[in-house]
Amino acid sequence: MKFLDKYKEYFKEYDEMEKDFIDDEKIWEQLNKHVNPSKENVKKVLEKAEKKIRLEPEEMAILIQNKDPETINEMYKLASKLKKDVYGDRIVFFAPLYISNKCVNNCKYCGFRKENGKIQRKTLTMEEIEEEVKIMISEGQKRTILVYGESPETTIDFICDSIRQVYNTKFENGEIRRANINCAPLSREELKKLKEVGIGTYQVFQETYHHETYRKMHPENTIKGHYRWRLYSQDRAMDVGLDDVGIGVLFGLYDWRFELMGLLYHTIHLEEKYNGVGPHTISVPRIEPAIGTSYPSEAKYAVRDEDFKKLVAILRLSVPYTGIILTAREKPEVREEVLPLGVSQIDAGTRIGVGGYKKSRGNELPEKEQFQLGDLRSLDVVIGETCKMGELPSFCTACYRAGRTGEEFMEVAKSSFVHNFCMPNAILTLKEYLLDYASEETKKAGEEAIKKHLDKLKDGKTKEFVLEALNRMEQGERDIRV
Ligand code: SAM
Ligand code: SF4
Repeated sequence: MKFLDKYKEYFKEYDEMEKDFIDDEKIWEQLNKHVNPSKENVKKVLEKAEKKIRLEPEEMAILIQNKDPETINEMYKLASKLKKDVYGDRIVFFAPLYISNKCVNNCKYCGFRKENGKIQRKTLTMEEIEEEVKIMISEGQKRTILVYGESPETTIDFICDSIRQVYNTKFENGEIRRANINCAPLSREELKKLKEVGIGTYQVFQETYHHETYRKMHPENTIKGHYRWRLYSQDRAMDVGLDDVGIGVLFGLYDWRFELMGLLYHTIHLEEKYNGVGPHTISVPRIEPAIGTSYPSEAKYAVRDEDFKKLVAILRLSVPYTGIILTAREKPEVREEVLPLGVSQIDAGTRIGVGGYKKSRGNELPEKEQFQLGDLRSLDVVIGETCKMGELPSFCTACYRAGRTGEEFMEVAKSSFVHNFCMPNAILTLKEYLLDYASEETKKAGEEAIKKHLDKLKDGKTKEFVLEALNRMEQGERDIRV
Protein backbone atom coordinates (compact mmCIF):
# COMPACT_ATOMS: atom_id res chain seq x y z
CA MET A 1 0.00 0.00 0.00
CA LYS A 2 2.99 2.29 0.62
CA PHE A 3 3.64 2.11 -3.10
CA LEU A 4 0.22 3.58 -3.79
CA ASP A 5 0.40 6.18 -1.00
CA LYS A 6 3.01 8.32 -2.73
CA TYR A 7 0.66 8.72 -5.68
CA LYS A 8 -2.07 10.26 -3.55
CA GLU A 9 0.30 13.17 -2.98
CA TYR A 10 1.05 13.39 -6.69
CA PHE A 11 -2.62 13.30 -7.69
CA LYS A 12 -3.52 16.35 -5.57
CA GLU A 13 -2.13 18.78 -8.15
CA TYR A 14 -4.52 17.40 -10.74
CA ASP A 15 -7.54 16.86 -8.52
CA GLU A 16 -7.46 20.55 -7.74
CA MET A 17 -7.66 21.54 -11.42
CA GLU A 18 -11.08 22.70 -12.50
CA LYS A 19 -10.77 21.07 -15.93
CA ASP A 20 -8.18 19.58 -18.23
CA PHE A 21 -7.49 20.35 -21.88
CA ILE A 22 -9.73 17.61 -23.28
CA ASP A 23 -13.31 18.81 -23.56
CA ASP A 24 -15.31 15.76 -24.68
CA GLU A 25 -18.45 17.72 -25.51
CA LYS A 26 -16.61 20.31 -27.56
CA ILE A 27 -14.84 17.60 -29.56
CA TRP A 28 -18.15 15.97 -30.45
CA GLU A 29 -19.69 19.36 -31.28
CA GLN A 30 -16.82 20.04 -33.69
CA LEU A 31 -17.13 16.63 -35.29
CA ASN A 32 -20.92 16.91 -35.60
CA LYS A 33 -20.73 20.38 -37.07
CA HIS A 34 -18.81 19.06 -40.06
CA VAL A 35 -20.63 15.87 -41.00
CA ASN A 36 -20.19 15.44 -44.78
CA PRO A 37 -18.25 18.66 -45.46
CA SER A 38 -18.35 20.26 -48.92
CA LYS A 39 -15.52 19.63 -51.36
CA GLU A 40 -14.65 23.34 -51.15
CA ASN A 41 -14.19 23.15 -47.41
CA VAL A 42 -12.01 20.06 -47.67
CA LYS A 43 -9.89 21.70 -50.36
CA LYS A 44 -9.45 24.83 -48.26
CA VAL A 45 -8.06 22.72 -45.41
CA LEU A 46 -5.77 20.87 -47.81
CA GLU A 47 -4.44 24.19 -49.11
CA LYS A 48 -3.45 25.14 -45.58
CA ALA A 49 -1.96 21.70 -44.89
CA GLU A 50 0.17 22.00 -48.02
CA LYS A 51 1.86 25.02 -46.45
CA LYS A 52 2.91 22.73 -43.59
CA ILE A 53 0.99 24.71 -41.01
CA ARG A 54 -0.39 22.74 -38.08
CA LEU A 55 -4.16 22.44 -38.45
CA GLU A 56 -6.78 23.60 -35.96
CA PRO A 57 -9.29 21.10 -34.48
CA GLU A 58 -12.17 22.30 -36.68
CA GLU A 59 -10.02 21.79 -39.76
CA MET A 60 -9.06 18.31 -38.64
CA ALA A 61 -12.76 17.59 -38.04
CA ILE A 62 -13.48 18.50 -41.67
CA LEU A 63 -10.90 15.97 -42.89
CA ILE A 64 -12.14 13.32 -40.48
CA GLN A 65 -15.74 13.69 -41.63
CA ASN A 66 -14.91 13.80 -45.32
CA LYS A 67 -16.44 10.82 -47.12
CA ASP A 68 -15.95 11.96 -50.71
CA PRO A 69 -13.64 9.46 -52.50
CA GLU A 70 -12.14 12.08 -54.79
CA THR A 71 -10.96 14.43 -52.04
CA ILE A 72 -9.97 11.49 -49.80
CA ASN A 73 -7.63 10.53 -52.61
CA GLU A 74 -6.27 14.07 -52.64
CA MET A 75 -5.72 13.77 -48.89
CA TYR A 76 -3.64 10.63 -49.43
CA LYS A 77 -1.57 12.24 -52.17
CA LEU A 78 -0.85 15.33 -50.12
CA ALA A 79 -0.03 13.28 -47.00
CA SER A 80 2.58 11.33 -49.01
CA LYS A 81 3.99 14.55 -50.42
CA LEU A 82 4.29 16.17 -46.99
CA LYS A 83 5.96 13.08 -45.64
CA LYS A 84 8.58 13.26 -48.38
CA ASP A 85 9.04 17.04 -48.02
CA VAL A 86 9.51 16.97 -44.26
CA TYR A 87 11.21 13.61 -43.68
CA GLY A 88 12.66 12.75 -47.07
CA ASP A 89 12.40 9.11 -48.19
CA ARG A 90 13.63 7.93 -44.81
CA ILE A 91 12.06 5.40 -42.49
CA VAL A 92 13.71 5.17 -39.07
CA PHE A 93 14.00 1.66 -37.59
CA PHE A 94 13.89 0.56 -33.96
CA ALA A 95 12.88 -2.44 -31.86
CA PRO A 96 11.27 -2.60 -28.41
CA LEU A 97 12.89 -4.33 -25.46
CA TYR A 98 10.47 -5.62 -22.83
CA ILE A 99 12.05 -5.35 -19.40
CA SER A 100 9.19 -6.30 -17.07
CA ASN A 101 5.64 -7.59 -17.36
CA LYS A 102 4.83 -7.22 -13.67
CA CYS A 103 2.05 -4.73 -13.21
CA VAL A 104 -0.15 -3.41 -10.41
CA ASN A 105 -2.72 -2.05 -12.85
CA ASN A 106 -5.63 -3.84 -14.39
CA CYS A 107 -6.16 -2.33 -17.82
CA LYS A 108 -8.91 -4.35 -19.43
CA TYR A 109 -7.14 -4.80 -22.77
CA CYS A 110 -3.59 -5.66 -21.64
CA GLY A 111 -2.07 -9.10 -21.11
CA PHE A 112 0.13 -7.70 -18.32
CA ARG A 113 -2.90 -6.75 -16.20
CA LYS A 114 -2.58 -7.72 -12.56
CA GLU A 115 -5.52 -10.12 -12.57
CA ASN A 116 -4.27 -12.09 -15.57
CA GLY A 117 -3.11 -15.39 -14.11
CA LYS A 118 -2.30 -16.80 -17.53
CA ILE A 119 1.13 -15.27 -18.00
CA GLN A 120 4.45 -15.88 -16.30
CA ARG A 121 5.70 -12.75 -14.55
CA LYS A 122 9.26 -11.67 -15.00
CA THR A 123 11.54 -8.67 -14.59
CA LEU A 124 14.85 -9.02 -16.38
CA THR A 125 18.05 -8.88 -14.33
CA MET A 126 20.92 -6.71 -15.57
CA GLU A 127 22.66 -9.82 -16.92
CA GLU A 128 19.52 -10.81 -18.80
CA ILE A 129 19.18 -7.30 -20.22
CA GLU A 130 22.75 -7.57 -21.45
CA GLU A 131 21.94 -10.90 -23.13
CA GLU A 132 18.85 -9.50 -24.85
CA VAL A 133 20.70 -6.40 -26.01
CA LYS A 134 23.56 -8.44 -27.44
CA ILE A 135 21.09 -10.40 -29.54
CA MET A 136 19.42 -7.20 -30.71
CA ILE A 137 22.79 -5.69 -31.63
CA SER A 138 23.81 -8.88 -33.44
CA GLU A 139 20.68 -8.52 -35.58
CA GLY A 140 21.61 -4.95 -36.48
CA GLN A 141 19.48 -2.86 -34.11
CA LYS A 142 20.78 0.56 -33.06
CA ARG A 143 17.68 2.13 -31.51
CA THR A 144 15.39 0.64 -28.91
CA ILE A 145 12.45 1.49 -26.72
CA LEU A 146 12.43 -0.06 -23.27
CA VAL A 147 8.99 -1.18 -22.07
CA TYR A 148 8.02 -1.66 -18.42
CA GLY A 149 4.88 -2.64 -16.55
CA GLU A 150 4.20 -0.59 -13.42
CA SER A 151 5.23 -2.36 -10.23
CA PRO A 152 7.26 -1.88 -7.04
CA GLU A 153 10.15 -3.64 -8.85
CA THR A 154 10.36 -1.11 -11.64
CA THR A 155 11.48 1.79 -9.46
CA ILE A 156 13.09 4.79 -11.11
CA ASP A 157 16.51 3.59 -9.94
CA PHE A 158 15.91 0.20 -11.55
CA ILE A 159 14.75 1.91 -14.75
CA CYS A 160 17.88 4.08 -14.78
CA ASP A 161 20.12 1.08 -14.16
CA SER A 162 18.48 -0.80 -17.00
CA ILE A 163 19.06 2.13 -19.37
CA ARG A 164 22.75 2.30 -18.36
CA GLN A 165 22.99 -1.43 -18.92
CA VAL A 166 21.61 -1.05 -22.45
CA TYR A 167 24.07 1.74 -23.31
CA ASN A 168 27.02 -0.10 -21.77
CA THR A 169 26.45 -3.30 -23.72
CA LYS A 170 28.70 -3.69 -26.76
CA PHE A 171 28.81 -6.56 -29.23
CA GLU A 172 31.30 -6.85 -32.10
CA ASN A 173 30.96 -3.66 -34.19
CA GLY A 174 27.73 -2.54 -32.64
CA GLU A 175 25.89 -0.94 -29.76
CA ILE A 176 22.49 0.57 -29.02
CA ARG A 177 22.88 4.30 -29.54
CA ARG A 178 19.48 5.53 -28.50
CA ALA A 179 17.18 4.12 -25.82
CA ASN A 180 13.64 5.51 -25.64
CA ILE A 181 11.30 4.69 -22.76
CA ASN A 182 7.69 3.52 -22.54
CA CYS A 183 6.78 3.27 -18.89
CA ALA A 184 4.16 4.45 -16.47
CA PRO A 185 3.70 8.19 -15.85
CA LEU A 186 6.48 9.49 -13.57
CA SER A 187 6.88 12.36 -11.15
CA ARG A 188 9.11 15.34 -11.95
CA GLU A 189 11.85 14.08 -9.59
CA GLU A 190 11.83 10.72 -11.34
CA LEU A 191 11.85 12.32 -14.76
CA LYS A 192 14.90 14.39 -13.80
CA LYS A 193 16.75 11.13 -13.18
CA LEU A 194 15.66 9.80 -16.59
CA LYS A 195 17.01 12.94 -18.21
CA GLU A 196 20.34 12.56 -16.42
CA VAL A 197 20.79 8.99 -17.59
CA GLY A 198 20.27 10.11 -21.22
CA ILE A 199 17.11 8.73 -22.69
CA GLY A 200 15.80 9.52 -26.15
CA THR A 201 12.02 9.89 -26.18
CA TYR A 202 9.81 9.56 -23.10
CA GLN A 203 6.65 7.96 -24.40
CA VAL A 204 3.30 7.56 -22.65
CA PHE A 205 0.09 6.69 -24.50
CA GLN A 206 -3.12 8.16 -23.13
CA GLU A 207 -4.84 4.97 -24.47
CA THR A 208 -8.12 6.90 -24.83
CA TYR A 209 -8.78 10.61 -24.48
CA HIS A 210 -12.47 9.97 -23.83
CA HIS A 211 -12.97 10.44 -20.07
CA GLU A 212 -15.79 7.93 -19.62
CA THR A 213 -14.14 5.21 -21.69
CA TYR A 214 -10.90 5.82 -19.78
CA ARG A 215 -12.76 5.17 -16.53
CA LYS A 216 -14.25 1.95 -17.89
CA MET A 217 -10.91 0.61 -19.10
CA HIS A 218 -8.88 1.46 -16.02
CA PRO A 219 -10.38 0.57 -12.65
CA GLU A 220 -10.46 3.56 -10.33
CA ASN A 221 -8.55 1.99 -7.45
CA THR A 222 -5.44 1.60 -9.62
CA ILE A 223 -2.72 4.17 -10.37
CA LYS A 224 -3.58 4.07 -14.01
CA GLY A 225 -7.18 4.90 -13.10
CA HIS A 226 -6.13 8.55 -12.71
CA TYR A 227 -6.77 10.12 -16.14
CA ARG A 228 -5.06 13.43 -15.46
CA TRP A 229 -1.93 11.95 -13.83
CA ARG A 230 -1.42 10.29 -17.19
CA LEU A 231 -2.62 13.18 -19.37
CA TYR A 232 -0.03 15.53 -17.89
CA SER A 233 2.92 13.05 -18.02
CA GLN A 234 4.52 14.90 -20.91
CA ASP A 235 4.03 18.27 -19.17
CA ARG A 236 5.99 17.03 -16.18
CA ALA A 237 8.75 15.80 -18.47
CA MET A 238 8.92 19.14 -20.27
CA ASP A 239 8.91 20.94 -16.89
CA VAL A 240 12.22 19.28 -16.00
CA GLY A 241 13.78 19.81 -19.42
CA LEU A 242 13.05 16.37 -20.86
CA ASP A 243 11.73 17.88 -24.05
CA ASP A 244 11.59 14.83 -26.30
CA VAL A 245 8.18 13.28 -25.58
CA GLY A 246 5.86 10.88 -27.37
CA ILE A 247 2.08 10.58 -27.19
CA GLY A 248 -0.32 7.95 -28.52
CA VAL A 249 -3.73 6.36 -28.46
CA LEU A 250 -4.67 2.69 -28.32
CA PHE A 251 -7.06 2.69 -31.25
CA GLY A 252 -10.10 0.48 -30.74
CA LEU A 253 -11.06 1.54 -27.22
CA TYR A 254 -13.24 4.43 -28.43
CA ASP A 255 -14.27 6.16 -31.68
CA TRP A 256 -11.11 6.85 -33.72
CA ARG A 257 -12.48 10.19 -34.86
CA PHE A 258 -12.64 11.44 -31.27
CA GLU A 259 -9.20 10.03 -30.46
CA LEU A 260 -7.61 11.82 -33.41
CA MET A 261 -9.03 15.10 -32.12
CA GLY A 262 -7.65 14.22 -28.66
CA LEU A 263 -4.16 13.76 -30.11
CA LEU A 264 -4.40 17.14 -31.81
CA TYR A 265 -5.62 18.87 -28.63
CA HIS A 266 -2.73 17.27 -26.73
CA THR A 267 -0.26 18.54 -29.34
CA ILE A 268 -1.71 22.04 -29.23
CA HIS A 269 -1.64 22.06 -25.42
CA LEU A 270 2.08 21.19 -25.38
CA GLU A 271 2.94 23.62 -28.17
CA GLU A 272 1.13 26.47 -26.43
CA LYS A 273 2.67 25.78 -23.05
CA TYR A 274 6.21 24.94 -24.13
CA ASN A 275 7.23 27.57 -26.65
CA GLY A 276 6.04 25.81 -29.79
CA VAL A 277 7.48 22.40 -28.85
CA GLY A 278 4.88 19.68 -29.28
CA PRO A 279 5.35 15.93 -29.07
CA HIS A 280 8.30 14.50 -30.99
CA THR A 281 6.25 11.45 -32.00
CA ILE A 282 2.69 10.17 -32.13
CA SER A 283 2.12 6.40 -32.00
CA VAL A 284 -0.92 4.77 -33.52
CA PRO A 285 -1.20 1.26 -32.02
CA ARG A 286 -4.39 -0.64 -32.81
CA ILE A 287 -5.65 -3.00 -30.18
CA GLU A 288 -4.55 -6.63 -30.65
CA PRO A 289 -5.84 -9.85 -29.09
CA ALA A 290 -4.21 -10.33 -25.70
CA ILE A 291 -4.16 -13.46 -23.59
CA GLY A 292 -6.33 -13.25 -20.46
CA THR A 293 -8.39 -10.30 -21.74
CA SER A 294 -11.68 -10.01 -23.56
CA TYR A 295 -10.07 -7.92 -26.29
CA PRO A 296 -10.50 -7.47 -29.14
CA SER A 297 -13.82 -9.40 -29.08
CA GLU A 298 -15.20 -6.63 -26.87
CA ALA A 299 -13.81 -3.85 -29.01
CA LYS A 300 -16.86 -2.40 -30.66
CA TYR A 301 -14.74 0.53 -31.79
CA ALA A 302 -12.21 -1.66 -33.62
CA VAL A 303 -10.72 0.46 -36.41
CA ARG A 304 -11.16 -0.95 -39.93
CA ASP A 305 -8.09 -0.97 -42.22
CA GLU A 306 -9.64 1.68 -44.46
CA ASP A 307 -10.20 4.05 -41.53
CA PHE A 308 -6.73 3.31 -40.18
CA LYS A 309 -5.23 4.44 -43.46
CA LYS A 310 -7.32 7.57 -43.35
CA LEU A 311 -6.41 8.41 -39.77
CA VAL A 312 -2.66 8.16 -40.43
CA ALA A 313 -2.98 10.45 -43.45
CA ILE A 314 -5.07 12.97 -41.47
CA LEU A 315 -2.44 13.02 -38.71
CA ARG A 316 0.29 13.63 -41.26
CA LEU A 317 -1.67 16.56 -42.70
CA SER A 318 -2.57 18.00 -39.29
CA VAL A 319 0.81 17.85 -37.53
CA PRO A 320 3.40 17.91 -40.33
CA TYR A 321 6.46 18.08 -38.08
CA THR A 322 5.56 15.32 -35.64
CA GLY A 323 6.95 11.84 -36.29
CA ILE A 324 4.40 9.03 -36.69
CA ILE A 325 5.25 5.56 -35.36
CA LEU A 326 3.64 2.46 -36.84
CA THR A 327 4.39 -0.74 -34.93
CA ALA A 328 4.74 -4.42 -35.76
CA ARG A 329 1.26 -4.93 -34.27
CA GLU A 330 0.20 -4.37 -37.90
CA LYS A 331 0.41 -7.04 -40.60
CA PRO A 332 3.00 -6.55 -43.39
CA GLU A 333 0.30 -5.72 -45.99
CA VAL A 334 -1.14 -2.98 -43.80
CA ARG A 335 2.30 -1.60 -43.00
CA GLU A 336 3.19 -1.38 -46.68
CA GLU A 337 -0.01 0.45 -47.52
CA VAL A 338 0.07 2.87 -44.60
CA LEU A 339 3.81 3.61 -44.62
CA PRO A 340 3.81 6.04 -47.56
CA LEU A 341 0.96 8.07 -46.04
CA GLY A 342 3.13 9.74 -43.44
CA VAL A 343 4.83 7.20 -41.20
CA SER A 344 8.36 8.12 -40.16
CA GLN A 345 9.32 5.27 -37.79
CA ILE A 346 8.64 1.54 -37.65
CA ASP A 347 9.92 -1.34 -35.56
CA ALA A 348 11.12 -4.57 -37.13
CA GLY A 349 12.59 -7.83 -35.91
CA THR A 350 10.43 -7.18 -32.86
CA ARG A 351 9.96 -9.65 -29.99
CA ILE A 352 7.55 -8.53 -27.32
CA GLY A 353 7.84 -11.12 -24.55
CA VAL A 354 10.08 -10.40 -21.57
CA GLY A 355 13.26 -12.23 -22.63
CA GLY A 356 11.69 -12.58 -26.09
CA TYR A 357 14.89 -12.15 -28.12
CA LYS A 358 16.63 -15.00 -26.33
CA LYS A 359 13.52 -17.17 -26.57
CA SER A 360 13.19 -16.61 -30.30
CA ARG A 361 16.83 -17.70 -30.73
CA GLY A 362 15.99 -20.94 -28.94
CA ASN A 363 12.92 -21.35 -31.15
CA GLU A 364 10.71 -21.23 -28.10
CA LEU A 365 7.12 -20.37 -28.86
CA PRO A 366 6.32 -16.71 -28.32
CA GLU A 367 3.80 -17.59 -25.63
CA LYS A 368 2.47 -15.49 -22.78
CA GLU A 369 3.04 -12.14 -24.36
CA GLN A 370 1.33 -8.82 -23.88
CA PHE A 371 -0.52 -9.08 -27.17
CA GLN A 372 -0.10 -10.72 -30.59
CA LEU A 373 2.24 -9.25 -33.20
CA GLY A 374 1.07 -8.86 -36.80
CA ASP A 375 4.49 -8.58 -38.40
CA LEU A 376 6.95 -11.31 -37.46
CA ARG A 377 9.38 -10.76 -40.32
CA SER A 378 13.06 -10.39 -39.45
CA LEU A 379 14.76 -7.00 -39.47
CA ASP A 380 16.78 -8.14 -42.50
CA VAL A 381 13.66 -8.93 -44.54
CA VAL A 382 11.92 -5.66 -43.64
CA ILE A 383 15.04 -3.62 -44.44
CA GLY A 384 15.31 -5.33 -47.84
CA GLU A 385 11.64 -4.80 -48.64
CA THR A 386 11.68 -1.18 -47.50
CA CYS A 387 14.58 -0.52 -49.88
CA LYS A 388 12.66 -2.18 -52.71
CA MET A 389 9.71 0.14 -51.98
CA GLY A 390 11.99 3.09 -52.77
CA GLU A 391 12.37 4.20 -49.15
CA LEU A 392 15.63 4.58 -47.28
CA PRO A 393 15.90 2.71 -43.96
CA SER A 394 17.74 4.74 -41.31
CA PHE A 395 19.28 3.87 -37.95
CA CYS A 396 20.38 7.43 -37.37
CA THR A 397 20.77 8.68 -33.80
CA ALA A 398 22.73 11.85 -34.58
CA CYS A 399 20.27 14.52 -33.39
CA TYR A 400 19.76 12.94 -30.01
CA ARG A 401 23.49 12.50 -29.50
CA ALA A 402 24.18 16.09 -30.55
CA GLY A 403 21.50 17.34 -28.15
CA ARG A 404 19.21 18.51 -30.94
CA THR A 405 15.85 17.95 -29.24
CA GLY A 406 12.83 20.02 -28.29
CA GLU A 407 12.99 23.60 -29.51
CA GLU A 408 16.24 22.99 -31.32
CA PHE A 409 14.78 19.99 -33.12
CA MET A 410 11.73 21.97 -34.21
CA GLU A 411 14.07 24.58 -35.71
CA VAL A 412 16.05 22.04 -37.70
CA ALA A 413 13.04 19.99 -38.73
CA LYS A 414 11.51 23.06 -40.28
CA SER A 415 14.47 23.79 -42.55
CA SER A 416 16.37 21.98 -45.27
CA PHE A 417 18.31 20.31 -42.46
CA VAL A 418 16.50 17.04 -43.02
CA HIS A 419 17.82 16.78 -46.55
CA ASN A 420 21.37 17.85 -45.69
CA PHE A 421 21.77 15.90 -42.45
CA CYS A 422 19.10 13.24 -42.03
CA MET A 423 19.37 11.81 -45.55
CA PRO A 424 23.20 11.53 -45.46
CA ASN A 425 23.02 9.99 -42.00
CA ALA A 426 20.37 7.54 -43.19
CA ILE A 427 22.69 6.49 -46.03
CA LEU A 428 25.62 6.06 -43.64
CA THR A 429 23.72 4.06 -41.03
CA LEU A 430 22.15 1.85 -43.71
CA LYS A 431 25.64 1.18 -45.06
CA GLU A 432 26.75 0.08 -41.57
CA TYR A 433 23.81 -2.30 -41.46
CA LEU A 434 24.60 -3.73 -44.91
CA LEU A 435 28.26 -4.25 -44.07
CA ASP A 436 27.73 -5.92 -40.72
CA TYR A 437 24.36 -7.68 -40.71
CA ALA A 438 22.58 -7.95 -44.06
CA SER A 439 21.88 -11.05 -46.12
CA GLU A 440 23.08 -11.05 -49.76
CA GLU A 441 19.62 -10.18 -51.05
CA THR A 442 19.17 -7.26 -48.64
CA LYS A 443 22.70 -6.06 -49.42
CA LYS A 444 21.81 -5.84 -53.08
CA ALA A 445 18.56 -3.96 -52.45
CA GLY A 446 20.32 -1.72 -49.91
CA GLU A 447 23.23 -0.81 -52.19
CA GLU A 448 20.76 0.11 -54.92
CA ALA A 449 18.82 2.30 -52.48
CA ILE A 450 22.04 4.01 -51.40
CA LYS A 451 23.02 4.68 -55.00
CA LYS A 452 19.63 6.13 -55.83
CA HIS A 453 19.56 8.38 -52.79
CA LEU A 454 23.17 9.51 -53.22
CA ASP A 455 22.13 10.86 -56.60
CA LYS A 456 19.43 12.87 -54.86
CA LEU A 457 21.85 14.68 -52.52
CA LYS A 458 21.83 18.25 -53.74
CA ASP A 459 24.69 19.76 -51.79
CA GLY A 460 28.04 18.96 -53.45
CA LYS A 461 30.11 19.14 -50.25
CA THR A 462 27.72 16.85 -48.36
CA LYS A 463 27.80 14.34 -51.19
CA GLU A 464 31.58 14.39 -51.22
CA PHE A 465 31.68 13.80 -47.47
CA VAL A 466 29.23 10.89 -47.72
CA LEU A 467 31.16 9.24 -50.56
CA GLU A 468 34.38 9.47 -48.58
CA ALA A 469 32.67 8.19 -45.44
CA LEU A 470 31.27 5.20 -47.34
CA ASN A 471 34.82 4.35 -48.38
CA ARG A 472 36.08 4.67 -44.83
CA MET A 473 33.33 2.33 -43.70
CA GLU A 474 34.35 -0.23 -46.29
CA GLN A 475 37.80 -0.05 -44.62
CA GLY A 476 36.27 -0.84 -41.21
CA GLU A 477 35.40 2.54 -39.70
CA ARG A 478 31.97 2.82 -38.04
CA ASP A 479 29.60 5.39 -36.59
CA ILE A 480 30.46 8.21 -39.00
CA ARG A 481 27.83 10.93 -39.11
CA VAL A 482 27.25 14.36 -40.57
N1 SAM B 1 2.79 0.10 -18.31
C1 SAM B 1 3.07 1.23 -19.10
C2 SAM B 1 1.82 1.92 -19.53
O1 SAM B 1 0.75 1.37 -19.43
O2 SAM B 1 1.95 3.03 -20.02
C3 SAM B 1 3.90 0.95 -20.32
C4 SAM B 1 3.90 -0.41 -20.89
S1 SAM B 1 2.44 -0.85 -21.75
C5 SAM B 1 2.87 -2.50 -21.96
C6 SAM B 1 2.69 -0.10 -23.34
C7 SAM B 1 1.48 0.06 -24.21
O3 SAM B 1 1.02 -1.19 -24.68
C8 SAM B 1 0.25 0.64 -23.55
O4 SAM B 1 0.36 2.03 -23.41
C9 SAM B 1 -0.86 0.19 -24.48
O5 SAM B 1 -1.21 1.21 -25.39
C10 SAM B 1 -0.25 -0.97 -25.27
N2 SAM B 1 -1.11 -2.15 -25.19
C11 SAM B 1 -1.62 -2.73 -24.09
N3 SAM B 1 -2.43 -3.76 -24.42
C12 SAM B 1 -2.46 -3.84 -25.77
C13 SAM B 1 -3.14 -4.68 -26.72
N4 SAM B 1 -3.95 -5.64 -26.34
N5 SAM B 1 -2.92 -4.46 -28.04
C14 SAM B 1 -2.09 -3.48 -28.45
N6 SAM B 1 -1.42 -2.66 -27.61
C15 SAM B 1 -1.61 -2.82 -26.28
FE1 SF4 C 1 0.12 -2.51 -16.85
FE2 SF4 C 1 0.63 -0.83 -18.88
FE3 SF4 C 1 -0.52 -3.21 -19.31
FE4 SF4 C 1 -1.90 -1.36 -18.11
S1 SF4 C 1 -1.10 -1.25 -20.23
S2 SF4 C 1 -1.78 -3.50 -17.45
S3 SF4 C 1 -0.34 -0.33 -16.95
S4 SF4 C 1 1.53 -2.84 -18.56
